[in-house]
Amino acid sequence: MNVADSELVVSIMNNNGFNRTEDYKEADVVLINTCSVRDNAEQRVRGRLDLFQHLKKKRPAMIIGVLGCMAERLKEKLIEEEKLVDIIAGPDSYRELPQLVSIAATGQKAVNVLLSREETYADISPVRMDENHVSAFISIMRGCDNMCSFCVVPFTRGRERSRAPQTILAEVADLIEKGYKEVTLLGQNVDKYNWNNGEVNFAQLLEMVAQTNGELRVRFSTSYPQDMTDDVLHIMAKYPNVCKYIHLPVQSGNNRMLDIMRRGYTREWYMQRIEAIRRIVPNCAISTDIITGFCGETEEEHQDTLSLMEWAQYDYAYMFKYSERPNTYAARKYADDVPEEVKIRRLNEIIDLQQKLSLESHQRDVGNTYQVLVEGVSKKSVEQFYGRNSQNRVIVFPRKEYNIGDYVHVKIVRCTSATLMGEVAE
Ligand code: SAH
Repeated sequence: MNVADSELVVSIMNNNGFNRTEDYKEADVVLINTCSVRDNAEQRVRGRLDLFQHLKKKRPAMIIGVLGCMAERLKEKLIEEEKLVDIIAGPDSYRELPQLVSIAATGQKAVNVLLSREETYADISPVRMDENHVSAFISIMRGCDNMCSFCVVPFTRGRERSRAPQTILAEVADLIEKGYKEVTLLGQNVDKYNWNNGEVNFAQLLEMVAQTNGELRVRFSTSYPQDMTDDVLHIMAKYPNVCKYIHLPVQSGNNRMLDIMRRGYTREWYMQRIEAIRRIVPNCAISTDIITGFCGETEEEHQDTLSLMEWAQYDYAYMFKYSERPNTYAARKYADDVPEEVKIRRLNEIIDLQQKLSLESHQRDVGNTYQVLVEGVSKKSVEQFYGRNSQNRVIVFPRKEYNIGDYVHVKIVRCTSATLMGEVAE
């Protein structure tokens, strides 16, 4: 999502006479897009700011802006804490950036952290920053109304709002014309996409995008267990070009945890959603997000997460220790009382289990042939390409006479828990 937002920012800046440079050392304006979802993400931004401290000493005219969630969360406080920062711009104020830069150029601090109920940047065509021109992100909605008790997103990205379908389709058409082969529709909770009071829902939007061109792969992220309907699954099953992959964050396998996380579903409901995916889209890969060590989590409750993971046989997972975020419901109501060493131990158990599940999932793929969209040259060898199959698996294979952006049929011959290795199938 931040990549997509940065592409919007580049577009807005370009239209106002700025050019992007590959070398930050020569930049007149440095804009840092940020994430607040865990403390760790914020610490990394602060580390990056330290790096710019030296540069700014040498070139005091350099303007430094902090954009996105951390700007929204900390507002003016961030300027007090990080003296080198000149601009603070929240996720809904990017149209104002050229003005904010003008203010900063006069030596004043410039801040805009207003959240909007309407802004979707629908009319702005992002300037793509990817190198290979194969796969692009398309933002279809902004904000989140779900109010999970641990999550800072509703406070930093504001209320949920959907982007007009015509503008999404126009962006898709433009990407196809530029030779892109894959789009990923982005939202915090794509299942809540809702244009004009129910005129177009997510299943309908997905179908509209799938129909634009059968050669275009369509992905989306993130689905939400409470809101994901069978309609979406039926569209996935109906269109070969809608990729057979769902990211369905579970967070915990325990009902008491899910309740105080305010996720709005139970373990049983979640399992019934996984069963629906397996029934309607049989060859679908499934990944998840897990938070371990949430407030008051007991050893038995942790075991429930492990047992659910085993049951679901996730192909992939993003796994995190709970990180308390200031002003969230959980921060106000519940003690962050699972000791750090217990969080780390539980996280390691979860990671170990997922490594086993990922390896098993890969082993099941050995011998199968998949259509792979070539994304680039393998980091390990210039003789090899890498790409993904519909299930979002990374596959490495000998490049031969193929090109980036081609579809190639590859037979899987070997695997590790991280990668599938294949040979071109005749
Ligand atoms: N909108 C998406 C999630 C966006 S954040 C959804 O609700 O599914 C991505 C992931 O970060 C979350 O799924 C969650 O697993 C993790 N996360 C969010 N807040 C967190 C916190 N306070 N501590 C640790 N992990 C967190």
